[in-house]
Amino acid sequence: MHHVDYARDGAAAVITIANPPVNSFSHAVRSALLDALDRAAMDDGVKAIVLTGAGGLFSGGADIREFGTPASLASPQLRDVIAACEASAKPVIAAISGICLGGGFEISLGCHYRVARGDARVGLPEVKLGLLPGAGGTQRLPRLVGVETALNMILSGEQVPARVLENSRLFERVVDDDPVRAAVELAGELDRQGSLVPRLVSDIRVNEPNLEALCDFAMQMVKAKAPLSIAPQRCIECVKAVGKPFAEGLAIEKRLFVELMQTPESKALRHSFFAERAAGKVSDIPESTPLRPLTKAAVIGAGTMGGGIAICLVNAGIPTWLLEADQAALDRGVARIAGIYDAQVKKGKLAQTERDKRMNLLMPVLNYEAICSADIVIEAVFERMDVKLAVFGELDRVMKPGSILATNTSTLDVNAIARSTKRPADVVGTHFFSPANIMRLLEIVRGTVTAKDALATALALGKTLKKVSVVSGVCDGFIGNRMLEHYGKQANYLLEEGASPRQVDAAMEAFGFAMGPFKVGDLAGNDIGWNIRKRRRAEKPGYRFSTLPDKLCELGRFGQKTGAGWYEYPDGRKPLPSKVVDELLAAHRKEMGITPRKIDDAEIVDRLVYALVNEGARILDEGIAARSSDIDVVYLTGYGFPALRGGPMFHADFVGLPLVQRRMREFARNPHGDPEFWKPAPLIERLVASGGSFATAVTAAYVTGQRPADAKGVAA
Ligand code: NAD
Repeated sequence: MHHVDYARDGAAAVITIANPPVNSFSHAVRSALLDALDRAAMDDGVKAIVLTGAGGLFSGGADIREFGTPASLASPQLRDVIAACEASAKPVIAAISGICLGGGFEISLGCHYRVARGDARVGLPEVKLGLLPGAGGTQRLPRLVGVETALNMILSGEQVPARVLENSRLFERVVDDDPVRAAVELAGELDRQGSLVPRLVSDIRVNEPNLEALCDFAMQMVKAKAPLSIAPQRCIECVKAVGKPFAEGLAIEKRLFVELMQTPESKALRHSFFAERAAGKVSDIPESTPLRPLTKAAVIGAGTMGGGIAICLVNAGIPTWLLEADQAALDRGVARIAGIYDAQVKKGKLAQTERDKRMNLLMPVLNYEAICSADIVIEAVFERMDVKLAVFGELDRVMKPGSILATNTSTLDVNAIARSTKRPADVVGTHFFSPANIMRLLEIVRGTVTAKDALATALALGKTLKKVSVVSGVCDGFIGNRMLEHYGKQANYLLEEGASPRQVDAAMEAFGFAMGPFKVGDLAGNDIGWNIRKRRRAEKPGYRFSTLPDKLCELGRFGQKTGAGWYEYPDGRKPLPSKVVDELLAAHRKEMGITPRKIDDAEIVDRLVYALVNEGARILDEGIAARSSDIDVVYLTGYGFPALRGGPMFHADFVGLPLVQRRMREFARNPHGDPEFWKPAPLIERLVASGGSFATAVTAAYVTGQRPADAKGVAA
């Protein structure tokens, strides 16, 4: 592979990075770039060098697949290539289009001039991986766009259109067409003017009188917003160093970058980056699997979920029928959708014309015949099997052959729903999370006989809707909610044993969750769990769980919507401690004969997180999830698991499975504990015995369809 192309355009050498898909700086590219720079230096007719990227984009940056491998440390490093650009006696002009991110942006900052298309997007996203721009970005960008803009870009990691930065010193020219042509012309013009000389960004002196104040303010902000995140703080320290001589600032940046590469935060964030990319890849469904057409959709049920799902579909430009049981419910559903769009228009987030366009794609109907030509139907009616089966009976009757029949059920058996139709291979679960138009996670539930092309099409739809799709096998609660039940159980046991809702919530928030379990319960409605427990009691009479939350619900304390739950909400949304709950706890403990004990925060965190881990291990072992990183993705994108912990399974691997297992055994010995609950999952026992980890575990591959016969929790 050539990686870098070299061509001549008059007196300009055009060096093109050609490393699809995003022209990242693998070791081979870095080496080839140095060679190309040397060739241009020795090419007598060359007066200037234009550096660009193939395929309409400059570069997506470092090759993060190399992170942690010897290739990432092999010489030349990106810093060396940038130094060579900057030191080139012949001026180097970066010609930027498409994306120019991370290391790609940093190399352009090391060039002597930059020319960009107005719609090219530049940015330094390293902070999102718990890192900082470590190839001069923190030192050069403030010199070109000013300290404040640079801080905003580096701390947000967001991409900025070149046009927005047109008036800074960053770009010599911002153009509407080919930036390479513009760069060659620029070189010619400068040459004719006698000013075609290297202009070093590192020579620019930063004259920002408020440098310290700006950086101190930014530091306060990031510490308040994300106290556990180190990377943003280190970014600011680097930017603060722009007041020092360039070489000194560069040395500080390098030292802090090396430090960040080793932090658990960065390892976790890089894990989730790769985990998201791996999610949705199913080993027996190659990318070449033919997709079914998907141009028209239908949603059954215009309630909370149906409305949100319909919004996702029309936002993606897919004409969507919305079917309800009666006119009043349909009107309410359509009005709710219109209300969501209107609020966005009011906030200036959506143009009125766009709102109207989307509403026009929505087709409210009351009869099934009207939707018969939809390519996919997503059912989101009440969570009752009889209601769902009646709907699927109608769908089976009217839908055209090949139409995908999807259910948004949270807990019901997708295989049973499929079997009730004459086309079980067309049935799939699409489990959206609430609010469906906002939450990124989509659990795609693969039934025992779901057709491969139906699954592949559902996955493709997930992409179209900009969701992160994770495939789950069929079991009660799928991946996310099945684990959540265990988390909730432990939270309630902790209250029985002596903790308060405030203490549990505070401990989980200190671990990094945005909200602890009791605040979440109050927000989502405690009645949801109550209904699930009622069903559990009927289904599994011996199943153990605390009756404490039931007692709370019996008092009508469903949470924010009733003004009271685990907390009081006199002002609407701000939770205040509740005397009623304290008394309820005291009476409940007395009734159970429990003398409350002091529980430390570490126990709270470990019990809640390891409850997730133990069930996650079973889910993995049963092949409900294809890989442990899929479970992490579910928790990171659907349940607010702290990003800098990498997900429950990554966290357990990080702690070390022998320690996790030991802790579980310790919890099993707790006199009020549940020894059965804390029995480490067989997979954990096996991995500890073999010195393995979840990340490397090879378990029953659900994805091959070869699920173990004794899989527990699998509704066959
Ligand atoms: P909801 O009560 O808000 O809405 C259900 C809607 O379905 C109502 O508008 C109702 O009129 C309509 N409906 C009922 N029977 C119908 C029929 N026969 N034909 C047409 N429409 C009918 O419920 P929801 O919260 O939107 O939940 C819908 C589904 O999504 C359930 O299966 C639920 O388990 C699942 N789900 C809910 C959430 C959540 O957080 N609410 C999250 C994920 C999945």
